[in-house]
Amino acid sequence: MTTAYITHPDCSLHNMGPEHPESPIRLHAIQRVLERTGLIEQLLPLEARHVTPEQIKRVHSELHQTRLEMKLPIEGVVYTDEDTALCPDSLHAASLSAGGAVLATEQVLSGKVKNAFVGTRPPGHHAEFKAAMGFCFYNNVAVAAAHALAQEGIERVAILDFDVHHGNGTVDIFKERPEVLVCSTFQHPFYPERYSEIDRPNIVNCPLAAFSPASEWREAIESRWLPALDAHKPDMLFISAGFDAHKEDPMADLNLEEEDYRWVTEQLMAVANKHAGDRLVSVLEGGYNPVALAFSVLAHLEALSA
Ligand SMILES: [Zn+2]
Repeated sequence: MTTAYITHPDCSLHNMGPEHPESPIRLHAIQRVLERTGLIEQLLPLEARHVTPEQIKRVHSELHQTRLEMKLPIEGVVYTDEDTALCPDSLHAASLSAGGAVLATEQVLSGKVKNAFVGTRPPGHHAEFKAAMGFCFYNNVAVAAAHALAQEGIERVAILDFDVHHGNGTVDIFKERPEVLVCSTFQHPFYPERYSEIDRPNIVNCPLAAFSPASEWREAIESRWLPALDAHKPDMLFISAGFDAHKEDPMADLNLEEEDYRWVTEQLMAVANKHAGDRLVSVLEGGYNPVALAFSVLAHLEALSA
């Protein structure tokens, strides 16, 4: 049983300008490290497909989709919030990014692979039911989780988000759906300052102060995520895999290293083995130092494919 690695060259067509940290270089760096180390030979590489309007409609308002389509520029870039921009190819890439997460879900559910990593962009976890924000247009992991829940035999899922930013979009989309457990670790106070105080049994928020050591992050996962997962007994796990809590990331101030990402991946695989028949899909979110990102993804994929 293998690990699928899903990406698409057209994800690089989404370009918010030379100064923007969420840049095509991120995926190129990942691809290069996977090739140089030879790990790619042990994975099943698959090309992402487009998402369908019906799959998006499960987690976003129709107005959200229409608004994005109407804002799409013919040339140049158009900002949808102060740090998120559309270029002419952005929705093409966003559709492949969400569609890649759906393909990963289908591959895992069909038993063709043990688990899957979706290395696409734009990322998704800040996109709310009716709003693009924080470099995100469609909430890829939410589209994937909703797709899994639409299949027979999948009644409960869990989304585990270790990006340094809180996954406000995922919480917004699933806050009234108790069958979806959403656990997050995130720097706080910090962007996006939405839903970090929400009180719901299916939302497990673990805020961490800037400059917290990695041991505190591990402690939050052991004491908060793992018991919540054991109680929820998910039929499938989804990871919002952001690597911007890395100590070398320029965007934030947490102190994780590659070995921490390997550790959390192993913890979540053990949960998937215990409750979910190993079913696990991991979707790339942030990570803005291309080298730190690529080596963190390498550790994550080495664990997933071990
Ligand atoms: Zn982030």
